[in-house]
Amino acid sequence: MNVPIQTFQFPGLQTDQVLHIKREDLIHPVISGNKFWKLKYNIQKAKELGKKILVTFGGAMSNHIVACAAAANENGFQSIGIIRGEEIVDKWKDNLTLTEASTYGMEFIFAPRHEYRLKEQSSYIQNILNTIPNHYLVPEGGTNSLAVKGAAEILSEKTFSYDIITSAMGTGGTVSGLSVGAFPHQQVIGFPVLKNAHFLVKELLKHTSKENFIVNLEYHFGGYAKITNELIDFINEFYNLNHIPLDPIYTGKMMFGLRDMIKKGQIHKDKKILAIHTGGLQGIKEMNKYLKKKNKPIIVT
Ligand SMILES: *Cc1c(COP(=O)(O)O)cnc(C)c1O
Repeated sequence: MNVPIQTFQFPGLQTDQVLHIKREDLIHPVISGNKFWKLKYNIQKAKELGKKILVTFGGAMSNHIVACAAAANENGFQSIGIIRGEEIVDKWKDNLTLTEASTYGMEFIFAPRHEYRLKEQSSYIQNILNTIPNHYLVPEGGTNSLAVKGAAEILSEKTFSYDIITSAMGTGGTVSGLSVGAFPHQQVIGFPVLKNAHFLVKELLKHTSKENFIVNLEYHFGGYAKITNELIDFINEFYNLNHIPLDPIYTGKMMFGLRDMIKKGQIHKDKKILAIHTGGLQGIKEMNKYLKKKNKPIIVT
């Protein structure tokens, strides 16, 4: 599986630094970016176990939900998404992420937020799971040891020449995989999109025995799916310059953070950088709906 590795430039930054991006967003039309890799061995496992239904968790903007629905559909599974927030039970058809997942046959169960937070530890969720026969449970965000094994395959001999590998972080499964897959001379920089994401270091160390990663907590922009005008401008300038789309929830924040680190001299100028485009572009349309409602500039694609 070959996705292109392309050069790119940063808007507002003159530099001789080698900047390349691995376009995992192009790996599959729907099962995009890191989700493709995180699902790869989970789907295989579900088949081996003879499971018929994939069950997973996600919020209303979740790239994972769409990817899981499509992967289930492509591999002959039914799928059920346990979705955060009971309040959207009557209005999910207005949500472009959930309607897309439903075109791949996913059915939804809407869980109250306080139960959702506890996942399998909630007896409410447990009761739901008990009524679904012969299912394979993919955790929220898709992170487990099989996901890490898949994400490690983003790196290979083809990416040997790079010194620094960067990725956006949600649950940390992808950066764990990059840490596992990295060669000894390579360092991984993860950019969490959640606020107060200190806990991620501990999460990573559950999945990787290497200490070849940094978690940069400074570029969450207020938290998950929170944005600023500056971020949206950056994404649009980046697109104009490179014709590479970034999403506002993950890859936009990672690229903004990377530019800032270079600007501040936090990365040595001789280090060759490979940014991983983890996909997530399906989220743009829902974000643009919100931006239009607020009379703000939208993300150009
Ligand atoms: C889900 C997602 C991430 C986060 O991946 P984790 O493995 O949960 O850290 C990063 N980028 C994009 C585009 C995603 O959809």
